[in-house]
Amino acid sequence: MTFVGTPDFACNPLIQQAMAILPILIHPDPRLQRQAQPVAQVDEGIRRLVADMAETMYAAPGVGLAATQVDVLRQVVVIDVSEDKSKLQAFINPQILEAEGECEGEEGCLSVPGVYDNVLRAERVRVRALGLDGEAFEVEAEGMLAVCLQHEIDHLQGKLFVDYLSRLKRERIRTKLAKQHPRLTA
Ligand SMILES: [Zn+2]
Repeated sequence: MTFVGTPDFACNPLIQQAMAILPILIHPDPRLQRQAQPVAQVDEGIRRLVADMAETMYAAPGVGLAATQVDVLRQVVVIDVSEDKSKLQAFINPQILEAEGECEGEEGCLSVPGVYDNVLRAERVRVRALGLDGEAFEVEAEGMLAVCLQHEIDHLQGKLFVDYLSRLKRERIRTKLAKQHPRLTA
């Protein structure tokens, strides 16, 4: 894995203010199917959103979170696939420039609690995004980071990992979650 120009999140004083844990939408909430819009300017509001999303992701706990999952239609993703949760990365307006290879692995999602299944993804991706400073950077990712990037960027396009599963599995999952979270899906 190569990281180019990724901002050092933990050292950024801008995001060490009070943070908030945001409610996460649960599938089959139709709001998860909406498309996020590009961020025009990385300003204080976006940095605040990133900080709150990071707090929400760590508290869940999860390794990635897209703004769509917290009902914000902006192209913002946070990811930390490190074991000690010390490498938070923010991807604003992320775009997959190249994808190659194939790998199948088990995925889960904070918006689809308790469900894990295998999804076929590209093995390596090159992604361009803006960092918290508003500057563009590129990442060449493989392994868990590559999978996580593809999963989160899907969210920004209104797509969930369960959309890759068979129709029968999708219906079972939908029914099960709708029963468990009736208030959230009414
Ligand atoms: Zn997810």
